[in-house]
Amino acid sequence: MALPHTFDCDTHLVHAGRDPSSHAGMVNTPAFRGSTIISKSLNEWESRKLPGNPYASYGRFGTPTTRALETAVAALEGGHNALVFPSGLAAITHSLLALLRAGDHALFPDSIYGPTRSFALGVLQRMGVQVEFYDPCAGAGIATQLQPHTRVVFVESPGSATFEVQDVPAIALAAHRVGAFVVMDNTWASPLFFKPFEHGVDLSIQAATKYIVGHSDALLGVATANERTWRLLQQATHDFGQTAGPDDIYLALRGLRSLSVRLHRHWENGVLLAESMARHPMVERVLHPALPGDPGHALWRRDFRGASGLFAVALRPVPRAALEAFFDHLELFGIGLSWGGYESLCLPMDTPTRTVRPWTHTGPLLRIHAGLESCNDLVHDMQAALNRLQHVA
Ligand SMILES: *Cc1c(COP(=O)(O)O)cnc(C)c1O
Repeated sequence: MALPHTFDCDTHLVHAGRDPSSHAGMVNTPAFRGSTIISKSLNEWESRKLPGNPYASYGRFGTPTTRALETAVAALEGGHNALVFPSGLAAITHSLLALLRAGDHALFPDSIYGPTRSFALGVLQRMGVQVEFYDPCAGAGIATQLQPHTRVVFVESPGSATFEVQDVPAIALAAHRVGAFVVMDNTWASPLFFKPFEHGVDLSIQAATKYIVGHSDALLGVATANERTWRLLQQATHDFGQTAGPDDIYLALRGLRSLSVRLHRHWENGVLLAESMARHPMVERVLHPALPGDPGHALWRRDFRGASGLFAVALRPVPRAALEAFFDHLELFGIGLSWGGYESLCLPMDTPTRTVRPWTHTGPLLRIHAGLESCNDLVHDMQAALNRLQHVA
């Protein structure tokens, strides 16, 4: 089912993880439900348990539906093999637990997704891992924080709250010199717009909840490993009993088919919306790596193949009443967590937590997801709400 690498990504999206002739000619791989998998003979039972068997001896290890998504995402990310998890955060935490031991040192960018930060400071430290944060813009300079016992260097590029683009190849080069694994949260770019394994990453995570599912109707995570990390990831995942439900996996497979078309529209809408917001007098700064003035723009151009629809905007300091009026005036943007669905969102963010690189803006920070609506309508709605904010302030 994995296609030869001569095909483009867009062709993979349509064909990967599908094999109609195995399923009565049905175009889509069905949602297999099952715990027990029956063997007819002792030999068959024993052969099911061999490591080379692509399927499983028990439902917890996955069904043909699970394998379809795993092979598709692994091929798109450019890795060796993948495993699904019931959420993006579960994929992150179990990947870290697969690699880390008590006494190890682990580095996380200061811009890290909040729940990953909380897991590192809570669970990992409690288990005896030495957790340290680094400047997301450190690049090769991370070498000064690497130690002989550094086991994991985590990257998230761009950070999903403040959008710093990381020099992943330089960080990976330095990390590999001390034998550390590079683990990436690749959710922002999706497997289409950043190819982690071409840039030195050893294990890449997708919160499939976002663009892969794409319709805000399921939670799912996928972790893709290279050959160096695969056995460790697989063993830990089995040990922890991680598995995901067939309906959610089916929805993720369905989302994959239109991922490229959707992402190109999210990209275009996001850039046009960000540019229009940058011109508004109440906006202090737009944080979007695809805009030429952004500090991460050069790295984004060098390493990424596109941009998704998620960015942030730092407003001038305004009274709360003005912010309330702004949100009341928005018609097309919902206030809500998550992103990557077809709908537009505008989320008031808490002041980013920073221990290495201080956050200096004092006004409100908004995280915006440009959905698939008409871009004119989105720009118009946002400008009207910003005008309202200016009026009340
Ligand atoms: C949403 C998100 C996650 C977690 O995904 P869930 O499926 O909600 O657990 C991880 N990383 C990033 C960057 C995210 O935006």
